[in-house]
Amino acid sequence: MSSGNKNLEKLTPKQRALYELLLKEKKGQLQDATTKAVERTIPRREDTGPAPASFPQQRLWVVDQLEGGRAFAYNVHITVQFTGALDVALLERCVNQVVRRHESLRTVFAAREDGIPVQVVLPELRLLVPVEDVSHLSKEEQDAEVERRTSEESQRLFDLARGPLLRGKVLRLGPDNHVALVTMHHLVTDRWSLGVFVRELMAFYATGVTGQSHDLPEPAIQYSDFAVWQRERMQGERLRTELEFWKQHLRTLPAPLELPTDRPRPPEQTYRGSRQFVTLPVALTRALKEISQQEGATLFMTLLATFQTLMHRHSRQSDITVGSPIAGRNVPELETLIGFFVNTLVLRNDLGGNPTFRELLRRAKEVCMAAYAHQELPFEKLVEELQPPRDLSRHPLFQVMFSFQNTPRQDLSMPGLQSTYLLVDPGSAKFDLLLELREDRPDEIFGWLEYNTDLFDVATIQRMRGHFYSLLGAVAENPDTRLSELPLLTQEEQLQLRSDFQGQQDDFPRDVCLHSLIEAQARRTPDAEALRFEDSALSYAQLDSRSNQLAWHLRSLGARPGSLVGVCLERSLDLVVALLAVLKSGAAYVPLDPAYPRERLAGMLEDADAPVLLTHEHLKSVLPQHDSRVLCLDSQWDDVAVHSRDSLPLLAGPDAPAYVIFTSGSTGRPKGAINCHSGIVNRLLWMQQQYGLSPDDTVLQKTPFSFDVSVWEFFWPLMTGARLVLAKPGGHQDPAYLVRLISEQRVSTLHFVPSMLRAFLEEPGVEKLSGLRRVVCSGEALPAELVRRAHALLPASAEVHNLYGPTEAAVDVSFWHCARGDSRHFVPIGRPVSNTQLHVLDSTGLPTPVGVPGELFIGGVQVGLGYLSRPALTAERFLPDAFSAIPGARLYRTGDVARWLPDGSLEYLGRADFQVKLRGFRIELGEIEAALLAAPGVSDAVVVLREDASAPRLVAYLVA
Ligand code: AMP
Ligand code: MG
Repeated sequence: MSSGNKNLEKLTPKQRALYELLLKEKKGQLQDATTKAVERTIPRREDTGPAPASFPQQRLWVVDQLEGGRAFAYNVHITVQFTGALDVALLERCVNQVVRRHESLRTVFAAREDGIPVQVVLPELRLLVPVEDVSHLSKEEQDAEVERRTSEESQRLFDLARGPLLRGKVLRLGPDNHVALVTMHHLVTDRWSLGVFVRELMAFYATGVTGQSHDLPEPAIQYSDFAVWQRERMQGERLRTELEFWKQHLRTLPAPLELPTDRPRPPEQTYRGSRQFVTLPVALTRALKEISQQEGATLFMTLLATFQTLMHRHSRQSDITVGSPIAGRNVPELETLIGFFVNTLVLRNDLGGNPTFRELLRRAKEVCMAAYAHQELPFEKLVEELQPPRDLSRHPLFQVMFSFQNTPRQDLSMPGLQSTYLLVDPGSAKFDLLLELREDRPDEIFGWLEYNTDLFDVATIQRMRGHFYSLLGAVAENPDTRLSELPLLTQEEQLQLRSDFQGQQDDFPRDVCLHSLIEAQARRTPDAEALRFEDSALSYAQLDSRSNQLAWHLRSLGARPGSLVGVCLERSLDLVVALLAVLKSGAAYVPLDPAYPRERLAGMLEDADAPVLLTHEHLKSVLPQHDSRVLCLDSQWDDVAVHSRDSLPLLAGPDAPAYVIFTSGSTGRPKGAINCHSGIVNRLLWMQQQYGLSPDDTVLQKTPFSFDVSVWEFFWPLMTGARLVLAKPGGHQDPAYLVRLISEQRVSTLHFVPSMLRAFLEEPGVEKLSGLRRVVCSGEALPAELVRRAHALLPASAEVHNLYGPTEAAVDVSFWHCARGDSRHFVPIGRPVSNTQLHVLDSTGLPTPVGVPGELFIGGVQVGLGYLSRPALTAERFLPDAFSAIPGARLYRTGDVARWLPDGSLEYLGRADFQVKLRGFRIELGEIEAALLAAPGVSDAVVVLREDASAPRLVAYLVA
């Protein structure tokens, strides 16, 4: 000791303070310096009747009553392997000697009238330790058997009223090879207690073998003495001050930690779990200790701060609350008892404002020091006092736990035996996630991530572990890094996101315009039927020459590359001729849907400022006041017919605008998204490569041409020699008409927004549409259940595809084939199309890992040119593409939230602006409604709030 003291003297005051802090933390004895260890002796109780349960026992007992058969996670288990000649009969005697010493191991529980459980100590309890012989099995079979028995033993429920609340079993693997399985209910034990249990067992066993006496003094008190003492102690002034501190710490209740899960959260916690092991290299541990020391913090605090950073980055929340166990044995006579003493500290940390890690560590230290000083308040008292909203689907106040043991584990040493603890996964999880680390030997840290398997896939936890390592490495390298700059992704993940998951590189012709694709097809199949509208049709040659005439005419009226031509027509042959003609003239077309309200058309006309406007005579009256020159294709066709039928030279380049489609977006008036030829050409060539339309196919054109889906409906068939059938005006909303038309015209390919697909599937006769090959969905989230319905009702030949993309990036940028029999609860939006990159970025612009939501950004050839007459908005949404090596490349910010799935496809999760507004609980009802109504496509919202008025929580919203 004296040399140790000398060493201590050499320490600086700061180092010494840290040393003392460490010592105390080790013993679980951190407490307020001012309250020292005063009047800490626990008296024996006077009577011998039932004693009240302690606070932690009470809560666990209630959990058990509530959860019934699912509370197996509250079993505490160890598996020990003995090599050598184990005397099983002696072992059994020794177990019973320990049971005799500790009343806790003889305790059962009964409900008192006031609902508080009491502990009843059985005067006698003789435990049998059965032996099962599995020596006839092969080594592999034995390993599997040990694993199976461990999870069976550790999950079998105890009868709290009848006891016993511990059990043991020995598996005999061979004459000199045994495995002991020991399970206790948490009500009568904790991890520290297991150390006591093993120590005593070893002492008795050694005595039995050698005949020498052991030196275990009789326990001075028993657990029930503690329970009575704790209840007396935790009242009045002491309770008040403790509560005051914790209520301040949790002034506003922490919002549940929303780690992105792989499956929807079951309505009730399931406790099914598994583990993934975690190991830290010695050099890393040393570096982390060094950093801890610099800040006068402990390694626990540094690991906690890193774990909280990990939770922050995965949940995108900044207010991170983590539970952490504390031994709760502040009184010396408790150190040798077996019982449930461990308490849980609620460690809440503010990770907001993007601090450096060092700053975060300081915050963590402050939080921990204050919590240690108030560690006596039982967690259950706190829950009782704070009354967090009842939610059976998660643990109250915190959902993830961090535990770090740096006291050496009780070594196993018994005469004639070599014994080791086996790390067997018990198959349970008390929390969403638990990081348990231990330092059994100096600088050697290992442990595991224990996770709920109903929420997370193993791969997700493995990735999370990789992120924990990345963070620790970066922290060790430079603790002055800001949280947002600490790298999360491993190198492999970075590579995966940057290349594996990205759209295929395809060498589609670059110098081609949209209409040139159709001109080429007209040359290949001039006589084939190109389009049909009711009883009239045009061949490819007719379509080509008509649109040439109109294009020449448009030229004469001033249409040029870069200029716009408004088109206000209903679905008709003329409509297709008009669109093609505008493109051929070098200009870009702007659809003006005659069904739109007047004000909307007026806004569009104003933005477009088109020199020419194509329409039909009867639609002239729907158009508001404007300055464009109007050409009626029906009444004024004679003026067009005088022009040449010859094709025009290629006037526009690939980067010239092809069409401008107005989208509503979430705010204000519609804005015109400008798309260029190269973007839409890429989109169409990709589509042809992917789905291979042939001249035998018929595509239905039914999407209003003011939506960009119509662009592929028009031009994809026409560039491949297939046939285009136009639905009659208004027909796209009439399922019965659609079924008839599809059947009569043998339509093979068509598009639905999911809500329309639902209505369509209701229609009798859909099962007979045997010509259907492809049902393409896009525009809104496609429910999995709808896809299953479609698969069930449509003929087997019909495939269902989910496409995703904003108007600003040439219709669609990702695609997914909905396979029959997929049992997933959602439909992915799939992988990027050719020559397209998708990025899921966090709020600081860093890629989020697989599984973690972020905002979706689009890069590549399909990104449009911006918004018509809206430079500020364009600059806000179309950013320089930092991921691209191509000069001038743009990145489009979608405002959609998505996440990568492990297979490189994407899951769509909703609108970003929408979610941000819903985050944060204390918002006025009116604000929620406003937020919902501001979301695109939402016309009505019903908000349902929890009844508990003290902490209103949004639990559901319906959108009509
Ligand atoms: P628009 O610009 O009208 O094409 O609308 C694009 C928006 O519709 C996207 O930003 C998404 O919010 C939504 N959207 C489009 N396709 C899908 C899809 N397949 N799944 C979910 N949402 C979609
Ligand atoms: Mg779209």
